Amino acid sequence: MSQMSNVLDAVVARVVARDPHEPEFHQAVREVLGTLSPALERHPEYVEAGILERLVEPERVILFRVPWVDDAGHTQVNRGFRVQFNSALGPYKGGLRFHPSVNLGIIKFLGFEQVLKNSLTGLPLGGGKGGSDFDPHGRSDAEVMRFAQSFMTELSRHIGEQVDVPAGDIGVGGREIGYLFGQYKRLNNSYSSGVLTGKNPEWGGSLARTQATGYGTVIFAQEMLRGRGLSFDGRRVTISGAGNVAIYATAKAQALGAHVQAVSDSSGYVVDEDGIDLELLRQVKEVERARLSVYAERRAASSAASGSATAVRYVAGGNIWDLPADIALPCATQNELTEADAETLIRNGVQVVAEGANMPSTPGALAAFQAAGVSFGPGKAANAGGVAVSGLEMAQNASRDHWTFEQVEAKLTDIMVAIHNTCLATADEYGTPGNYVLGANIAGFTKVARTMLAHGVI
Ligand code: GLU
Repeated sequence: MSQMSNVLDAVVARVVARDPHEPEFHQAVREVLGTLSPALERHPEYVEAGILERLVEPERVILFRVPWVDDAGHTQVNRGFRVQFNSALGPYKGGLRFHPSVNLGIIKFLGFEQVLKNSLTGLPLGGGKGGSDFDPHGRSDAEVMRFAQSFMTELSRHIGEQVDVPAGDIGVGGREIGYLFGQYKRLNNSYSSGVLTGKNPEWGGSLARTQATGYGTVIFAQEMLRGRGLSFDGRRVTISGAGNVAIYATAKAQALGAHVQAVSDSSGYVVDEDGIDLELLRQVKEVERARLSVYAERRAASSAASGSATAVRYVAGGNIWDLPADIALPCATQNELTEADAETLIRNGVQVVAEGANMPSTPGALAAFQAAGVSFGPGKAANAGGVAVSGLEMAQNASRDHWTFEQVEAKLTDIMVAIHNTCLATADEYGTPGNYVLGANIAGFTKVARTMLAHGVI
C-alpha cells in the first residue's frame, strides 16, 4: 500500500512541478489519485505501462487569441482554450466555459474530471474541455455573436464529429451554441450536426438536454437517499447557483415533492419560504439574464399586491450554506463549498450532498462530509447526466433520428441509476461501502486504464 502511495505521490509531485500555477488541476489530480491505490495494487500492469503519467498529461492543448470588435468599435482580445485530454474511449467530449476566471489550469481540471465522468456514463466518449476568459455578462447579443464567431474560426480547425465534440458549460447556453454552430457550418460548408451538442432541438439538438444535468443530479441524489431509506418528499433542499444546472435541479426536486428553499448567485442568495417559484426563476435568469435580486423584488411585489405576507428574503453577500437543510446540491462552481460550510451543514443535520457543479466541494469539505457519515456524491458521478444526454444527442445525429422527451429522459434515468450502482458496487468491491468518491474514481479510471493498455503506448 505504502509503496503504491509513493508511486502516486511522485506522479502528483511531477504534475505540480511541471505546472506550478494550476492549483485547481493539482486539486483534481490529488483527489482522484488519492483514491486509486487499491485498484493499482490489483493491477500493477497499469503502473508499469505508465497509465498514470499519461492520464495526467493532456493529449493536446490548444491555446489561441480571440480578437473581436465590441459595440463601441473597440478591439477586444480574449484567450481561447481547448484541452483534448484523453481519447481512449471516443472522440474528446466536454463543454466550453466562458467566464472571466477561465485559465489553462481551470480548463485542465475540468478536462481531467471529464475523462473519468464520461467513462462512468458507459457511452463511447473521450474527455476534453475548453473555453475562454470572455465574460458574456452585460454583453449584447451582437457582441456575443462576434466573439463566438471569432472563437469558432480558430476552434473549427481542431474539432469534428469523430474528433472532438464541444458543448456548453458556465456562460455557454443555447444562444452561444447557436452562434458557434452557425460559424462552424459556414466555415466547413457542411451540415455536421454532430460537431456540437446542446443544440436547439429544432435543428439537431436533443430534447431533455437542457434539463439533463440538473435532472440527473437529482435522480442520482434520489438513489443516494433511497439507500438511507429516505426520499425527496417533504425534505428541505438547498441548491446553490441559479444557472442551467440549478434551475433544472430545482424543477426535478420539486417534482419529487421537495421543498427547495433557496438558490444563489455570485452576489448572494434568496430564501423563499413558499419554495422557489420555478417559472419566475426561469424568467429572471433564462429570459432576462438578470440578477437573483430581481427574483426577490418581483416575488415581494406580487405578495404585496395579493395582500399576503412576504415569504421571500434576499441576502446580499450571504452564504447559502448557513441555511439548515436535509439535502444540499452545490450547483454553482468549483470550491464554492468550504470545510467551514460543510461543518455548518453537518451541524444542521444534512444527510445527503450531491454535486451538480464540477468540484464545488473543497478537499476539506469532502473529508468532513465523509467523516460525519453524510452521503456524498461527487460531481463526476452526480452531474454526468449532462454529458450523457450529449452522448445521446450524438447518437441521434449519427442516425438522423429524433427521440421524444420521454425516451431521452428514460435513458437518462437508466444511466444515472447505473452510475450510482456502479459507484456503490465498486466501493463495496474495494472494502469501503458507501464511499461514492472512491467508487466513482476507481470505476471511471479502470475502464480508461484497460483501454489505454489495449491501445499500447500512444
Ligand atoms: N459541461 C458539462 C459537463 O461538465 C457537459 C459537457 C457536454 O455535454 O459535453 O459535464
